[in-house]
Amino acid sequence: MLTNLQTRDVETLVHPYTNLDTFRSTGPLVLESGKGVWVYDSDGKAYIEGMAGLWCTALGYDNEEIVETARIQMSKMPYTHLFGAKSNDPAIELAEKLKEMAPMPVSKVFFGLSGSDANDTQVKLVWYYNNALGRPKKKKIIARLKGYHGVTVASASLTGLPNNHIDFDLPIANILHTSCPHHYRFGLEGESEEDFATRLANELEELILREGPDTVAAYIAEPVGGAGGVIVPPATYYEKIQAVLKRHDVLFIADEVICGFGRLGTPFGSTAMGMTPDTMSLAKAITSAYFPLSAVLIPEAIHQAMIDESRKIGVFGHGYTYSGHPVGAAIGVKTLEIYERDDVFGHAARMSPRFWKHLDALRDHPLVGEVRGKGLVAGLELVADKATKRAFEPRRGVGAKAMALAQEEGLILRAMGDTLALCPPLIIKEAEIDDLFDRFGRALNRAEELVR
Ligand code: PLP
Repeated sequence: MLTNLQTRDVETLVHPYTNLDTFRSTGPLVLESGKGVWVYDSDGKAYIEGMAGLWCTALGYDNEEIVETARIQMSKMPYTHLFGAKSNDPAIELAEKLKEMAPMPVSKVFFGLSGSDANDTQVKLVWYYNNALGRPKKKKIIARLKGYHGVTVASASLTGLPNNHIDFDLPIANILHTSCPHHYRFGLEGESEEDFATRLANELEELILREGPDTVAAYIAEPVGGAGGVIVPPATYYEKIQAVLKRHDVLFIADEVICGFGRLGTPFGSTAMGMTPDTMSLAKAITSAYFPLSAVLIPEAIHQAMIDESRKIGVFGHGYTYSGHPVGAAIGVKTLEIYERDDVFGHAARMSPRFWKHLDALRDHPLVGEVRGKGLVAGLELVADKATKRAFEPRRGVGAKAMALAQEEGLILRAMGDTLALCPPLIIKEAEIDDLFDRFGRALNRAEELVR
């Protein structure tokens, strides 16, 4: 029986990543308030937010410093923009901070509102850059199967998941996909992780050669894949992939929307994974999700090409009403200041062993085929048969059922098929990690009883 609020929701809202048919009878979980790593529903029930919302609320749910920063900025200058050579202090300061923090040389920063629009900007800049250089054929962008880069027309095309393409008439032209670096699922019988990495790098090179290196402009990857099922590429993968990209003059775009800002225990996922990208997309934890904000870090070569285009055609014809929004930027500056002052990334790194002690213990659980992840993000793949890695029939919805049981136990996690993801706020404490896994263990045991 749905509550009044749930009924009003069902009658009015379209919910992303929700089965819109079954949802009509189940209704939504309405969350009303939060404190630390906890959120509370409209009945007052408490949940540990084991997903930091959508991999984003790094500082949890009651950071008063951020609230106060927003209040002050809103009362001083609630809105201005960057169009036509206007600017504002917080946008300048945030761009400076990002340039300072980035693990590679950055010339300029372009602000947007979401991970999707950041990756859309990446696609457009890659095309613009190659046109500026007089290479009109060099336009194809290679992404990975099971990669996630967003849902706008271009970023959904980069995303390598069927639900983002089927019946949306995507992907668009010039977007290609290469294999997913998931050894457990796609490694061959007896193939070592390193041999698997070599095979994938060879496959990427064959794809580039088949398409023609003069037509391939860029490759995009999440350091550790998130929404495709928390996929950690095998050792030596990036080293080998980067050698291929270098050989064929292909730009490397790191999608740091999840991994950026401490998730893997380092400021950026690229550092943790041994990547040296040319450019990065950032969002989510850049403001701890207290305000929508994304950033594209632009290298000097691309910026020079943008200047050349302005000489040739005039204004740079890209940007959003809210690019460099002063409230978002002020929150971004404050968030980065808190990360540094409170050593939040160091804290995340220190919490990681406790997190992994519990995860390692779950490797023996009869439902769990693989536990994977890094730092404070993990995925547990539930399987019908541990020995053969046989998956459950998708129709059984085992992952979704386990997620619902976790919710009953007061834990919010996310099911991606039969992989359950955990990605708590970075401020989580040891006792809260223990509590999270108590709830998770109970949910898994109940799921086991339900499916056998
Ligand atoms: N890139 C990655 C790696 C993401 O995980 C996401 C969202 O989860 C996006 C891009 C898209 O971001 P948004 O939902 O803000 O458009």
